[in-house]
Amino acid sequence: MIPAEFDYAVAESVDDAIGLLAEGGDDARPLAGGHSLLPFMKLRFAAPSLLVDLRRVADLRGVQRDNGSWKIGAMTRHADLQGRADLGLLGASAGQIADQQVRNRGTIGGSLAHGDAAADLPAVLLALGGSVVVRGSSGEREIAAADLFEGYLTTAIAQGEVLTEVRVPALDGYGYGYEKFNRRSEDWAMVGVCALVKTAGGVCEDVRIGLTHMASVPLRATAVEEALRGQPLRAHRLGGAARHRGH
Ligand SMILES: Cc1cc2nc3c(=O)[nH]c(=O)nc-3n(C[C@H](O)[C@H](O)[C@H](O)COP(=O)(O)OP(=O)(O)OC[C@H]3O[C@@H](n4cnc5c(N)ncnc54)[C@H](O)[C@@H]3O)c2cc1C
Repeated sequence: MIPAEFDYAVAESVDDAIGLLAEGGDDARPLAGGHSLLPFMKLRFAAPSLLVDLRRVADLRGVQRDNGSWKIGAMTRHADLQGRADLGLLGASAGQIADQQVRNRGTIGGSLAHGDAAADLPAVLLALGGSVVVRGSSGEREIAAADLFEGYLTTAIAQGEVLTEVRVPALDGYGYGYEKFNRRSEDWAMVGVCALVKTAGGVCEDVRIGLTHMASVPLRATAVEEALRGQPLRAHRLGGAARHRGH
């Protein structure tokens, strides 16, 4: 339970963090809330040579509405999102992450960069059709949620890049829910399902469904979505749609 030796630096800005990561080389890693990285280091699953702490970078915190979408700084904590009705599914699912202690430290950027299929926010980002903005020494790029999660604990974020912002469409007028199945309320999801539905006159205009921990990456249940889109929302139809396999 004792991590391997590592160096530690505090970044004062995103550019500073990028510079420190570049100097630190292949084994330098950003540190956000530390609630996934530090346990991994203690178990020796990870042994970074340098941790670049992002906690002083004020630009990486905060939630902003920009017309039809939300822009959320990577260092915004789960606690800052939980229970925010204006954030819809994101606010509701953030409140289901672990317990309050974890939510007080863990960040949205850390959760998405970690890329754990058992984490709650990756499937939510996928269902929302969101994206992340990352910046490195060769510039800035935006990665769609569908391209972000490449495998178990593996994302499209390159070594030396910093996730700066999470973007999600507001999807006003959608109903939503996140059902997390676990043995104790504060545990990781054994499995989880989130859904967003827009109806008009009892007909499903649009539906988006994300699946947590049903594979090594979060999934969109696209076959179920297709079976429901444009259909009247009746119980038997929902049951039939849920039996569709594949995505
Ligand atoms: C007891 C416990 C229970 C938990 N239960 C749940 C749960 O039920 N659901 C759930 O979703 N999560 C759960 N978590 C995880 C928690 O949500 C973490 O906070 C989260 O996964 C990682 O966020 P962090 O800010 O702590 O990141 P860190 O641990 O600091 O970093 C995680 C990884 O992301 C990288 N990283 C972090 N920030 C950036 C960035 N801005 N740019 C590039 N790379 C970055 C780091 O280098 C590291 O590789 C739990 C954690 C604990 C300790």
